[in-house]
Amino acid sequence: MSDNIILNISGVNKRFGGLQALSEVGIQIRQGQIYGLIGPNGAGKTTFFNVVTGLYQPDSGSFELAGKPYSPSAPHEVAKAGIARTFQNIRLFGEMTALENVMVGCHVRTHQGVFGAVFRHKAARAEEAAIRQRALALLDFVGIGEFAERTSKFLSYGDQRRLEIARALATEPKLLALDEPAAGMNATEKLALRELLVKIKNDGKTVLLIEHDVKLMMGLCDRITVLEYGKPIAEGLPADIQKNPAVIEAYLGGAH
Ligand code: ADP
Ligand code: MG
Repeated sequence: MSDNIILNISGVNKRFGGLQALSEVGIQIRQGQIYGLIGPNGAGKTTFFNVVTGLYQPDSGSFELAGKPYSPSAPHEVAKAGIARTFQNIRLFGEMTALENVMVGCHVRTHQGVFGAVFRHKAARAEEAAIRQRALALLDFVGIGEFAERTSKFLSYGDQRRLEIARALATEPKLLALDEPAAGMNATEKLALRELLVKIKNDGKTVLLIEHDVKLMMGLCDRITVLEYGKPIAEGLPADIQKNPAVIEAYLGGAH
């Protein structure tokens, strides 16, 4: 087993009643990759994310993060293990400022935790100042530093997506998992998102990316897995995926 594998998952099965939503799904992601998970609507992409991040319990599966087995039994355990995610539908604290949203993410990694932040003991105050600086730097990094004090629900859609990514990065994850970050974006926002993802990769981060927009994925991902009806039907380099007959059929076939 190669040493630079960040996420190593195999044999994931998940059934919802009569529906086999995931059949023997596996994935291997190496340090520094942007790894794409694509497939038609209903293929099981989000279900796979939900299993990997502890939201759904799988019927079977083996899970390793940075060479250590981890148990995807609860979302907060997975976050602690080092996977941060965003959701297909934006989930921010809408009444909080952009800065506060990112500071919440930072607290996952501090000793004081939320209680320290609330009671503001002396040590906590120093840590709080450091967290504030780090959160501001992250907002700058994703390109919305100027909106730090804005209530997050008043940010544009594209900027709310950026804020979610900043909050996820604030937990200092080993793996950043993004579920359709381009959903609902216009062409300009998509282009900007693409630039941000390249910047995140250049910063040394490892990314698992679900996306419905295949065009966006092709130039961006190092490797891609394709799901159809819960089954992996192809895995490989984007250029090979693009001309794989089974993939073309899955996307262009009438079934979806
Ligand atoms: P994708 O993200 O690829 O569009 P999903 O993972 O959301 O697909 O869905 C895969 C299949 O699993 C769909 O048929 C969907 O209806 C079903 N599914 C997803 N979540 C649940 C659930 N909580 N209960 C029952 N069925 C579900
Ligand atoms: Mg989905």
